[in-house]
Amino acid sequence: MLAGASSPVVNGAPGPVSVNGNGQRSGGQRSWVNLFRGGKVREDAGSLPFFVPAVVNGRRVAFCPPEELEEEKDKWDAALIGYVFGPRPLFTAMQRFVKEKSGHVGGGEVFGLESGIFVFDFQGSDLSRQILDEGPWTLGIRPLILRPWSPEISLTKKEESELPLWVRLYGLNLHYWGERSLGQIASVLGRPICVDRRTSQRERLSFARLCVSIKASDGLPTTILLTQLYGSLVEQSVHYDWTPPLCSVCKVFGHIDNACPVAAINNTEGSGESQPEAMQVEDGWK
Ligand SMILES: [Zn+2]
Repeated sequence: MLAGASSPVVNGAPGPVSVNGNGQRSGGQRSWVNLFRGGKVREDAGSLPFFVPAVVNGRRVAFCPPEELEEEKDKWDAALIGYVFGPRPLFTAMQRFVKEKSGHVGGGEVFGLESGIFVFDFQGSDLSRQILDEGPWTLGIRPLILRPWSPEISLTKKEESELPLWVRLYGLNLHYWGERSLGQIASVLGRPICVDRRTSQRERLSFARLCVSIKASDGLPTTILLTQLYGSLVEQSVHYDWTPPLCSVCKVFGHIDNACPVAAINNTEGSGESQPEAMQVEDGWK
């Protein structure tokens, strides 16, 4: 009897409901077994076939048919996977991004995953490629990492070896604001991407602001050296709009040295005794 799908058994009874050892709801008329009989919980849910599981090395294995995986894969051909480094952004910010980028071709969809990763679906358009080509993107001061979805891509991993970061050069003297000088400065830090409008227009002279794609292995220097007009060197401070957590062991952005799982394992192996506190992995984003 599936008419009970909208009954309090499924939706939660107003009063306390207890279930005894044989699955019978005490005081109720239906059993849990009956409720789920026929493989359906709700009338609008799809049914699921049963397969006898294969066993490999003593463990049950679900053998997902390759032809179905291929078929499902094709549905996500134009999908991008993305996330914002740092605290999870509001879903509405992501919706806004999709609307801005895809409004002219009829829009796209965005889905939020538990891990903080977003799936952007731009079906039937070349928009994904175009958005990737126009990147890297930042959302506010933090990098928005986007890449094409593929079956191999992790939907949980949030570590990067290179990130686009906005950099400020406070007190940069007036003769260094030319395009080539700023390009030289950015190149010392990483791969130059762009300057902001107020820098290119020289509208705000308190700092020049550059976006640079920086490798974690290169670190985040707080000063760099510039040549002066007649050859001597001068030190220029470098300020990052947002400093991502950086691990010098793994050479990635995403966690700090103190939260490094690799370093913790190395330490444990080195000392020959377990170090439970050191093994506690924090993701560094909180
Ligand atoms: Zn690490």
